[in-house]
Amino acid sequence: MGVQDGILGMGDARAREGAGRKRRWLKRRERWLVVLGVALHAVYMLSIFDIYFKTPIVHGMDRVAPRFPAPAKRLVLLIADGLRADKFYEPDSEGNFRAPFLRSIIKERGRWGVSHARPPTESRPGHVAIIAGFYEDPSAVTKGWKANPVEFDSLFNRSKHTYAFGSPDIIPIFCGALPHSTWNSYPHEFEDFATDASFLDEWSFDQFQSLLNRSLTDKDLREALQQDNLVVFLHLLGCDSNGHAHRPFSSIYLNNVKVVDHIAKRVFDLVEGYYKDNRTAYVFTADHGMSDKGSHGDGHPSNTDTPLVVWGAGVKYPKSAVVSDHSDHGRFVDEHMHDTPTPTVWGLSSIERVDVNQADIAPLMSTLLGLPCPMNSVGNLPLGYIDMNEAEEVEAVLSNTKQILNQFLRKSHIKQSSTIYFKPFKPLEHYMSVLDQIEELISIRDYEAALKRSEDLRSLALEGLHYFQTYDWLMLMAVITLGYIGWMLYLVLHVLQSYTSVPGVLFQKEQAVQQKKDTRKILVCGFAAMGLISMILFWEQSPPLYHAYVAMTVFLWTRIIGEHQFLKALWKYLHGEKLNYVLKLLATLAVSVMISEFLVNSFTERKLYTWCFLFAGVTAFCYLFYLIPWRSQIPAFVCLACWFLSGFTLMPAEIPDNNPLVISSGVMITVIGVAARWLDKHAEGSKYWLSICSRDMRKSKFSMLFLLQVLLVGLSSMMVSLSTSHRMQNQELHRLHQLLNWLIAGSSMILPLFSENTLLSRLTSIFLGFAPPFLLLSIGYEAVFYGALALALMAWLLFENTLLYLSKTEKITVSNTSMVENVVLETDDRYLRLSDVRIPLTFMVLFNVAFFGTGNFASIASFEISSVYRFITVFSPFLMAALLIFKLFIPFMLVICTFSAIAKLIRVPRSGCYFLVILFSDVMTIHFFFLVRNTGSWMEIGNSISHFGIVSAQVVFVLLLFALTDIYTKDIRTRSDHPSSRKVR
Ligand SMILES: [Zn+2]
Ligand SMILES: [Zn+2]
Repeated sequence: MGVQDGILGMGDARAREGAGRKRRWLKRRERWLVVLGVALHAVYMLSIFDIYFKTPIVHGMDRVAPRFPAPAKRLVLLIADGLRADKFYEPDSEGNFRAPFLRSIIKERGRWGVSHARPPTESRPGHVAIIAGFYEDPSAVTKGWKANPVEFDSLFNRSKHTYAFGSPDIIPIFCGALPHSTWNSYPHEFEDFATDASFLDEWSFDQFQSLLNRSLTDKDLREALQQDNLVVFLHLLGCDSNGHAHRPFSSIYLNNVKVVDHIAKRVFDLVEGYYKDNRTAYVFTADHGMSDKGSHGDGHPSNTDTPLVVWGAGVKYPKSAVVSDHSDHGRFVDEHMHDTPTPTVWGLSSIERVDVNQADIAPLMSTLLGLPCPMNSVGNLPLGYIDMNEAEEVEAVLSNTKQILNQFLRKSHIKQSSTIYFKPFKPLEHYMSVLDQIEELISIRDYEAALKRSEDLRSLALEGLHYFQTYDWLMLMAVITLGYIGWMLYLVLHVLQSYTSVPGVLFQKEQAVQQKKDTRKILVCGFAAMGLISMILFWEQSPPLYHAYVAMTVFLWTRIIGEHQFLKALWKYLHGEKLNYVLKLLATLAVSVMISEFLVNSFTERKLYTWCFLFAGVTAFCYLFYLIPWRSQIPAFVCLACWFLSGFTLMPAEIPDNNPLVISSGVMITVIGVAARWLDKHAEGSKYWLSICSRDMRKSKFSMLFLLQVLLVGLSSMMVSLSTSHRMQNQELHRLHQLLNWLIAGSSMILPLFSENTLLSRLTSIFLGFAPPFLLLSIGYEAVFYGALALALMAWLLFENTLLYLSKTEKITVSNTSMVENVVLETDDRYLRLSDVRIPLTFMVLFNVAFFGTGNFASIASFEISSVYRFITVFSPFLMAALLIFKLFIPFMLVICTFSAIAKLIRVPRSGCYFLVILFSDVMTIHFFFLVRNTGSWMEIGNSISHFGIVSAQVVFVLLLFALTDIYTKDIRTRSDHPSSRKVR
């Protein structure tokens, strides 16, 4: 060592100045890469909105006036929010049906079926599908669900007047800007779900009843109520609120089904008694179902299957079922299971059932009122419900067809007018002649053929709409894939140039000057290309983001081509290398890709992690056992920690409630914390973990802090049991409890900042600090997972530390054979070696298991209300989402903190490692981008898209977490930071 110091000492000042410049350059370049990376992933992630979530709405079509008499004068629409089909149709345990009135309707005077909602099974898109007839693009989420992001036509717009009562989240969407409407909604506070929410249903009914009562004295109102084309809409939120708060198996939810049925009966009696003309049609349905866990949003049948009962004026009477009468015609893009056999317990097998897509209800209602279908509707009129003669049926279907065809023509026109090279939708090029044929068939009274033709034309028009919806796909996908590949190459170049010894080996000074000139030329060419493409895009009136996609891709490739000198030199260098090295490189590459692919598969099959960790436990054990003596107990610990963690991915993704487990895991966390503390204090004896422990533990300040942290963990366990027992008794959460929970969670997260800055004590403190919020947000086994993950992270730390220890001893005994390996980077870190790839790879596996250990993507969508119950009781979706996301964050934080600590410990450049992490996750991103599907069930489509989105986000997310956790980890000191401790004991 002394000799080296002497050599370095010669040009000390100049060397230091150079090092400083290089360090600043590297900092700048890293910052620039991070910005570029975030921008790139944000922009490319947005591309899924241009590809998959493009708004289907177009404007400027003509209305199609129907050519048949209106079957009904007015229509009553009852939507029981969150009522799932099976709970509605099936009997309770005593054999009594919960909806006796609507059942009698099904059996005696109406028609019924299952209405299939399309995910996202949320209230807003569900209501839009029912009332406006189209599936709102989920991008409306980004624009805030409350406001009306786009103007759309609805049944209510076409009505003469609409009376609507219900939730403040729903009614204003349709009536807020509608002049011919009378509506009212209750204040948000009514939706407090700690109590039985069926009074919300009663509220809507009471409003309607008092409206009719008022009309007895108010002459204007009476006249208004006598008009044709009236719509009455009662939104009944009770089932939804009760389902969220008490789940669909609870007596409160099931009782709410009875309440809803009773309201339907009273509305029916009231309306019939008021008008006495039998000219009212009634539609009863739900916007979405409710999963067993008390949530909705995904494509599970419990969410998508909702009841539909239609009766009154213009509606057919029941017909006995004909076996094998399952025609599944003209289903739009949605292809999930329809017309599944009716469960025998429903006791309705003998009565014909007509299933519909949710959007089909809109044209059904329009037709019942003799109104034109809503202009943006993609629903197919379900003839099975409507009582019409053949001629009228054809007219009704034809007007439905023309309305969809108009949308197609409008889209086609818009595309054609702005595209340089336009490819029309071939099957509909001669639509005019088909329309003429239909008219001719009607005039010769061949109604059957006319109906067939109309229906065929309608499905073609729907296909055409889909064609234009996906018109730009090929171009966009090519651009974005190229962009990702460019980004990955750019990252590889950066890592090679900045954190490895490669550039020193490759380059002499004079080449660099030559390269600079070249780069400028290439940059100019790149910008010219970008400008040209932008001009074409501008001329085609492409959305603004198209410019961003193309610009990003062109820019990255320009940069890569700019580095061609380096690439050439690298290629030469690899040619000159020994076969051994090349083989090692290839093997590393193969393993990296394999692990990335493993992670891709784990997105759909989380059980894979079980195998992964069982295997990792055994291999790590054997490897360490071979390297160090058994007595150190490290091999056994690593193996057991991995095995412990492997168990969690076998547990159900939807976490079952288990409060005793949460409370006892508080004890477990305390035990782990105390054990780590003990080790920290008594490590002087063991050379294997010396460098991660603190030296002077006798500072009482830190002991106090530790005790305080343990106390907070204990307190939070107690609060878990207190809050839950209150909930059991169906009481509201005390304000005081709520406040205490916020306090405990908040304060405990600040404490780690003041803990001792040696590696193990800081990590222990972080672990204890995040335990209280996690426990308070836990409902079951995930609380144990928190401890298990910490043990596995500890195992990782010990593993790396052992390797470090061994490499140090080796260096001393063998002396410096390879100078290059020992050269330290100017930032105090050493150069990255090929074998360091294991660190980002291990990190990625642990990072992913931090999420998949307690669930999968479906289980976040179906959010678990009881997990935030200890913090809030009033329904506020954004705060709840924030809390749930925070809960997901905590395990990630642990992993990232450990990762940062390890990078410090073994002195690899952390930024280099995280660029490698980004590189590998982008292997996954590209894979998911190709896995995105546009066929199959909606659930599969949705999943494939969300996987892509999540992996893209993961990259941004990792960067963000690094920044966040830096507060906790930046002042960690390892022993090797002190020169004196470098001497090996
Ligand atoms: Zn709803
Ligand atoms: Zn809901």
